[in-house]
Amino acid sequence: MLNPWELHRLAFEKQMAARDFRDLYCDWSGILLKFNGEKDERGKSSCSQYIENFGCSLHEGRPLACRLFPIGRQIQNETIQYIFQGETFPCLNGCPEVIELPQLSVEAYLKGQQTTLFEQAQDEYLEVMQNIADIALMLLLDTGWATSGDTHTRVQWRTMGSESPNQLAQRIGEKWLDLLTLPDIVFKLDDPKEFILEHQNLLNENAQNQIDCLINFTEIGDLAIQMMALALFLGKAIGADVKSLAEMWSEMGE
Ligand code: SF4
Repeated sequence: MLNPWELHRLAFEKQMAARDFRDLYCDWSGILLKFNGEKDERGKSSCSQYIENFGCSLHEGRPLACRLFPIGRQIQNETIQYIFQGETFPCLNGCPEVIELPQLSVEAYLKGQQTTLFEQAQDEYLEVMQNIADIALMLLLDTGWATSGDTHTRVQWRTMGSESPNQLAQRIGEKWLDLLTLPDIVFKLDDPKEFILEHQNLLNENAQNQIDCLINFTEIGDLAIQMMALALFLGKAIGADVKSLAEMWSEMGE
């Protein structure tokens, strides 16, 4: 999975425009690397960036998920936990290169993988996701739409928690998907925070422009659904528990 900064980081490594990288090498509108490379002996396709007998062709730009493997990273109540996920990744059973790696502390492992900037990017996009969900909640609660008797919006929010990224992408629409995955911002290799702050401002600005043009409750409800779809889609990109989030935000809207 890729957050938008990681998509730009990979495109930078590949020396191509982020849009081209997204269209050529990603699925789900740019939040998942395509796995359409050579097949292994089990018939599983490798990542589009994998080169046989060489490894990752974009090693310096690889995303956090690849840097962490086989460790997972969880944030609960603002506490970060690293968990071993080797048992759920069959690669560890079949790849001698991985099995023969030396044993390291988690700290040493993360240092070696240079995860700091990538973890920062992930945490910043977690904030962005929350901010987008706050816009959706504001549209529902602060406009009088919820108290007017609307229940449709919250039902849709709950439903979206179980939808696929492609279903969410359809709800979001091309303009907002481009704003999310291909923001018109100068990419900063060593400063994900600044890039993501600018990205947040851009998203806020566009949401505000759209809010300024709303003329009735139907349009308010539609935008509340669209914004929540966007928050959940970004949630998928950063590996959040989207189903639980959709449930939580729906309850907050009651
Ligand atoms: S590390 Fe592997 S999965 Fe990650 S980008 Fe490189 S080839 Fe793809």
